[in-house]
Amino acid sequence: MRRTLSLFLLVACGLTRAQSPDWTKIYAELLTHYQAILRLDTTDPPGNETKVAEYIQKVFEQDGIPVTIAAKDPARANVIARLRGNGSKRPILLVGHEDTVQVDPAKWIFPPFSATRDGGYVYARGAIDNKWQVAANIMTMLMLKRGNVALDRDVIFVSEAGEEASTAPGIEYLANEHWPEIDAEACLAEGGTVRREGGQVRFALTQTAEKIPRGAKLVSTGPSGHGSRPMRTNAILHLSQAIEKVALWDPPMRLNDTTRAYFEKMATLSPAGQAARFNALFDAAKAPAVREYLAENDPGNYSMLHTSISPNIVSGGFQVNVIPSQAEATLDIRALPDEDMPAFYDLMRKVIADPAVKVVPNDRNERPGSAPSRIDTEIYRAIESANRKVYQVPTIPQMSTGATDMAFLRAKGMQCYGVGPAADMEDAAKGFGAHSDQERLLEDSLNKYLEFQWDFLTSVAMTKR
Ligand SMILES: [Zn+2]
Repeated sequence: MRRTLSLFLLVACGLTRAQSPDWTKIYAELLTHYQAILRLDTTDPPGNETKVAEYIQKVFEQDGIPVTIAAKDPARANVIARLRGNGSKRPILLVGHEDTVQVDPAKWIFPPFSATRDGGYVYARGAIDNKWQVAANIMTMLMLKRGNVALDRDVIFVSEAGEEASTAPGIEYLANEHWPEIDAEACLAEGGTVRREGGQVRFALTQTAEKIPRGAKLVSTGPSGHGSRPMRTNAILHLSQAIEKVALWDPPMRLNDTTRAYFEKMATLSPAGQAARFNALFDAAKAPAVREYLAENDPGNYSMLHTSISPNIVSGGFQVNVIPSQAEATLDIRALPDEDMPAFYDLMRKVIADPAVKVVPNDRNERPGSAPSRIDTEIYRAIESANRKVYQVPTIPQMSTGATDMAFLRAKGMQCYGVGPAADMEDAAKGFGAHSDQERLLEDSLNKYLEFQWDFLTSVAMTKR
């Protein structure tokens, strides 16, 4: 017993000596890299992400980390770097994106590429989306390399171009032309958050699935005629009736492992009324009324229940006194990961039930469909455990209604998890969120994220001595 105990202590101390980082120094360096890449304007289009790629290359090569610059377009470089493990487990991939959305500088308190520190925040375009992650991943690689940390699996760093406006020079190029260099068992990328409400950390949301952007046009035709003699066959009339039918339709609800766990766990963390609604989704008799409530009051959660349809562009007619012979509507359809689209389009035709209106699927298919990543794996459990340790909160898997670059990796079988730093729920509403006219992140949130990632890698990648 004594021997076991002292061996245990020795091992524990060894781990502490080898792997407990000097966080104060690390936070300072993390901030330096964060500010440096925030100050490089990579608004996309055009991107010009090579500026960030060159910065990372310089930083990594100073510490002896070999770097591959992978560029389909020389101005839009991606970075791949790898630290080798003993190969007993398959690699883990850390992904961030180098580009940002555009800015309207007139709207910013601080210049958008100044990375100004104020009140504990860093202000810049890309502060949240997504340069915090690039910076945290840079720092993680430097820590692993400098600590000469023994790894059971390779840790691969990728910073990619083109996430915001065009995946062709970024993830698509990497997945098609550099797959062996980035292939891994699992990846961490953007798409999650640690939710704070009223200053309290409540739970961590981890993106394990995403809906797939699909589309269709409704094309309505009828005889044209003189506007002074209204006709019940008017193409615009038929189109508007069809739009109303599909937009108010409650498509079949279907949960997957992610959304089932999401609503179950959210029920345990929500106020009574909301908890009852989430629980009622699992009761076939009560679910329709809840869906109606969510459709009115909670579009995000409602969209997670089924393939959704939003009519977003309407066109038809050209002169006030002419009844047009054609009118059309463009629909934004967000499909469940496993949706059978031909069958879904047929269902839409039945809902519309009007021979004058055709459903014309379009080939919008920006990102491939893929099964949700699993929530019963070592990787997911390590995310849960790191969230408990660093934030003392539970982890909830989430299916995002929007698309991310993880779709390309999941489509090839990689288990991908969208993670993120702690953020105040109220901050986005104040206009400081991703893609807003201001963007900011608490330095403390960035630091805590790095601790989370380090704890995660300690369990899934570092060799236990
Ligand atoms: Zn992003």
